[in-house]
Amino acid sequence: MDSSSLARLDERITGCRACPRLVAWREEVAATKRAAFADWTYWGRPVPGFGPPDARLLVIGLAPAAHGGNRTGRMFTGDRSGDVLYAALHDVGLASQPTSVSADDGLELYGVRVTAPVHCAPPANKPTPEERDTCRPWLVQELRLLRPSLRSVVALGAFGWQAALTALGEAGWAVPRPRPAFGHGARVSLEGLELFGCFHVSQRNTFTGRLTPRMLRDVLRTAADAAGLPVGAVDDKP
Ligand code: SF4
Repeated sequence: MDSSSLARLDERITGCRACPRLVAWREEVAATKRAAFADWTYWGRPVPGFGPPDARLLVIGLAPAAHGGNRTGRMFTGDRSGDVLYAALHDVGLASQPTSVSADDGLELYGVRVTAPVHCAPPANKPTPEERDTCRPWLVQELRLLRPSLRSVVALGAFGWQAALTALGEAGWAVPRPRPAFGHGARVSLEGLELFGCFHVSQRNTFTGRLTPRMLRDVLRTAADAAGLPVGAVDDKP
């Protein structure tokens, strides 16, 4: 696709103020900061998707973290969830480096874009249904712009799964009815696109072992393979 279209969309997203509660929260967090990041100038705005405009694989999470994406201005950047996600993307050959600490750290994604159905950090990581619905048009537009290249989607957690199905339907894909249920390893074929479910990379899941790095790599590798992206087949890490 025309890369400037997606860049324009990202630019428009960063200026959005449609959700009063989230605008207030993201800006309050940016002003008060966490002690460990006292010398940072927090982003404090909506966080757009990250990755190339001709991505074949899209990872859909939940929303930026208050002191992660809301601080650094890049999806899954600067928090533990991002540490897990980008390490796995690097392990399967889809990222240039295993770490993601700031928007200017040089990280590049290969054929993959990472986004969220809610672009502003919500209190307690819980957007309201109204906020989710208000933000959906951004994801729908992103999907439409990516459509020429997009071949697979990994939805992280039940929230990402539901949001992905709704947005895919609004973006023009025929979504089965009844809606397929979320599960780790769930796979649904849409027209020319494979949707995969994966437990979210939240600390609650990764610290407890509900989602291990290997489980995450397996889903990413399968999704990348379905998208026609080159990935290493051997996985000898725990
Ligand atoms: S959550 Fe989405 S719709 Fe709401 S203010 Fe942020 S970018 Fe805008």
